[in-house]
Amino acid sequence: MTYDRILIRYGEISTKGRNRSKFTNKMKMNIIRLLKDERIQVDAQRDRMFLYLNGASFEDVKEKLVHVSGIQSFSPVVKTTQDVAAIKEAALLLVKKAMNGQAASFKVSTRRADKQFPLDTHELNHEIGGHVLRGTDDLTVDVRQPDFTLTVEVRKEAVYLSSETIPGAGGMPAGAAGKAVLLLSGGLDSPVAGYMMMKRGVEIEAVHFFSPPYTSDRAKQKVIDLANVLTMYGGSIRLHIVPFTDIQLAIHKQVPENYTMTSTRRVMMQIADQIREQTGSLAIVTGESLGQVASQTMESMAAINDVTNTPVLRPLVATDKLEIMEVARKIGTHDISILPFEDCCTIFTPAAPKTKPKTEKVQFFESFLDFQPMIEKAIKETETIVLPKAEEEMDDLL
Ligand code: ATP
Ligand code: MG
Repeated sequence: MTYDRILIRYGEISTKGRNRSKFTNKMKMNIIRLLKDERIQVDAQRDRMFLYLNGASFEDVKEKLVHVSGIQSFSPVVKTTQDVAAIKEAALLLVKKAMNGQAASFKVSTRRADKQFPLDTHELNHEIGGHVLRGTDDLTVDVRQPDFTLTVEVRKEAVYLSSETIPGAGGMPAGAAGKAVLLLSGGLDSPVAGYMMMKRGVEIEAVHFFSPPYTSDRAKQKVIDLANVLTMYGGSIRLHIVPFTDIQLAIHKQVPENYTMTSTRRVMMQIADQIREQTGSLAIVTGESLGQVASQTMESMAAINDVTNTPVLRPLVATDKLEIMEVARKIGTHDISILPFEDCCTIFTPAAPKTKPKTEKVQFFESFLDFQPMIEKAIKETETIVLPKAEEEMDDLL
C-alpha cells in the first residue's frame, strides 16, 4: 500500500478573507522550495492543498512538512478504484497501520462526491466498517470519540482513503507578512527569534557581524549553518555577513570601556537599518530578552534604539532562557548554537558593561568618531549568501 497524495489543511490562513490566495500561494512556493529534490506536485485549492507524491516517500516528505508554517494538519491519502472490494482492502490495511499492534477505537466517515455511486454513505460506512472489524482484533467502533477516523472520499475518478492526521507547525506561511532583517549571532537566542517571526509569516534577511581575525571562519560557518536550519521553516534566507573588525577596533579605542557594548550595538543597528532599506524589509528583529545580560535592560534598549525609527521586534523579550533553549532544541538550532566558537561580541565584551547606559553619554562619546565612512565601507564589503538555494533556480520549479 503506497500513499498517493497528501491532504494539507490550512490553519489561520482560512480566516484571512481576501488575502487568502496570497497566503496559500506563499505556502505553495515554500513547500515547493523545501521539497525541490522530490518529484512532488502541489495543487493549492481554496480550502485545502494537495501534494501529489509521484512515487516520493511519504515519510521523507512528512519529516519536512511538519515544519512548514501555515499548515494546521495533514494526512497521507491512499487512492483506489471505485471497486468496493478494493476500497475495503485498502481500508483494512490503513486501519492496521493506524493501530500499530495496539487496541483502538475507530469510526468510518464517508463522503460521496460522486452521487452516481451505487452505495450511499451509510451503506458504505457499514460495508467498510464490517470488513475492517472482521479483519482485526482489539478494534471497536466509537462514533463519538474514536482514537482515529478512517475517512473515505468517493469521487468520480477514484476513491481516497486516509486514517492519519499529523499536526502541522501552525502559524502563517513565511513571507506572507513581509520581510524583516534578523540580527543573527551565533548564540542561542537570535535563531529562535528568527523562527518565531517566520512562524508569524515574516520572511528573513539575516545580518551577521563578524570580526576576523578575532573571530574564526568556523564561527562564520556556524552562523551559515544556523541560517540554513531556519530555511526549513518555509522560506529562503539571504544571509548578509558584514565585516565589523574596523568598527569594533575604533569603538574600542575611542569609547570608554563600559560603554563599548552600547556603542557597538548602536552601530550594528544602523548598518542593519541600511540593509533593511536596501532589501525592502520593514523591521529589525533581535534575540534580546529582558534582563538576560547587561545589554538587555530597558535603559540599554532605549540607548540602542535611539539610532533608528524603524520598528525593532524582540519576540523573546518576555521569555526565559529555559524556554528559549527548549524551542532551540525543538527547531534544531541548539546543538549548533552551543558550539564554542567566539562571535565578534564575546571577544570585545567589556568586563563590566554599563547596565543602565545614558543615551546622551553614548552620543557624546561617539561624537569623536566619524562612523559614516566606516559604515559605508562595511556595507560595501558585505558578503551575501542565499540559502538554501538561489532564488533564480526557483523559477524552474514553479
Ligand atoms: P544571542 O543568543 O542571540 O547571541 P545574546 O544572549 O548573546 O543573544 P547579546 O549578545 O546581548 O545577547 O545580543 C543581543 C542580540 O543582538 C542578539 O540576540 C542578536 O540579535 C544581536 N547580535 C549580537 N551579536 C551579533 C552579531 N555578531 N551579529 C548579528 N547580530 C548580533
Ligand atoms: Mg550572543
